[in-house]
Amino acid sequence: MRFADVIGQEDVKKRLVQTVKDSRVSHAQLFLGPEGSGKLALAIAYAQYINCTNKQGDDSCGECPSCVKYQKFIHPDLHFIYPTAKIKNIEKPMSKDFIKQWRELLFETNSNINLPDWYSKIGIERKQAIINARDCNEIIKTLTYKSYESEYKVMIIWMVEKLFHAAAPKILKVLEEPPDKTLFLLVSENQDLIINTILSRAQLIKIGRLDDNNLSKALISDGYEPAVVNDAVRIAGGNYLAAVRLISQSDDERYNFINFRDWMRNVYQFDVEKLIKFVAEMSKNSREKNKSFLNYALRFTRECLLMNYGSGDLVRVSSEELEFINKFYPFVNERNSSLIAEELDRAIYHIERNANPNVLFMDLSLKFTKWLRK
Ligand SMILES: [Zn+2]
Repeated sequence: MRFADVIGQEDVKKRLVQTVKDSRVSHAQLFLGPEGSGKLALAIAYAQYINCTNKQGDDSCGECPSCVKYQKFIHPDLHFIYPTAKIKNIEKPMSKDFIKQWRELLFETNSNINLPDWYSKIGIERKQAIINARDCNEIIKTLTYKSYESEYKVMIIWMVEKLFHAAAPKILKVLEEPPDKTLFLLVSENQDLIINTILSRAQLIKIGRLDDNNLSKALISDGYEPAVVNDAVRIAGGNYLAAVRLISQSDDERYNFINFRDWMRNVYQFDVEKLIKFVAEMSKNSREKNKSFLNYALRFTRECLLMNYGSGDLVRVSSEELEFINKFYPFVNERNSSLIAEELDRAIYHIERNANPNVLFMDLSLKFTKWLRK
């Protein structure tokens, strides 16, 4: 990962580069910053820059043998330690047992990883993960070997606040007096949870939230729609991961809207061919997706009823939805609205219990046709 691939944070990059130019790279540094600020990406880019054999001014070259291996996260002198937990088939977990998933997630997120995504990647959503004593022993063992290829051996400890307290003393000595040309880059989101003896041994690199401008630019170059990006950035608070979450939620919301609008049109016109196609599509969806769709339909029906009661100012919808709601609401009235709502409620109940979506959506389509065309 080159500095150029890290979103924003130009001041931090400049300071890091300067430490290399001035030959005053501190052997233990703590990259402290909130979720989605790019602290892990910065640590990796810094390590790649230090070990690049053909530095291009303020960035690594991305092409020398060291950079090539760094960019695949497979350099033999680049080591990662992160929280783990017991899973099926791994009774005594260590970081290296999960390196495949770790590298995958680095690629998938452009090195912007948070704990929930990591837990879900290794399938431990409901457990607490820690950096355990086995990993601390591994750190010491690794550092006693000579570095293979590069000048610096780099140990990146991600979420150092998850270090198991009783295991911490094991690495204090090596943090204080590391072997020559060894670099500890600690990454953390919460300074208060880091053990004091660790904290006092590392130089602090404080990383702030991303600047909205840089965040927008990065998301647009990721291929997201500028209009959607602007909405997301406005509420993401300089958090790249939060912005991506907001964008993907609005994707789901839009899918639900388009799908619901087309479904209601086909129901009203009783276009059997299109209804059969709709049912077939729905049967391919995940249960969660269909549940979210039915909840959306229920919400939309209630908004229509509000319009019918002349409470249009209570309706909270996008401009696209409003356009459709204005045409659709006259068909939802006090006669059929409770029937529709009850039917949708029942459908959600059945979907949760694994009802056959083919049968369920065809049944709904026929009932709605009857009620809406009356
Ligand atoms: Zn290079």
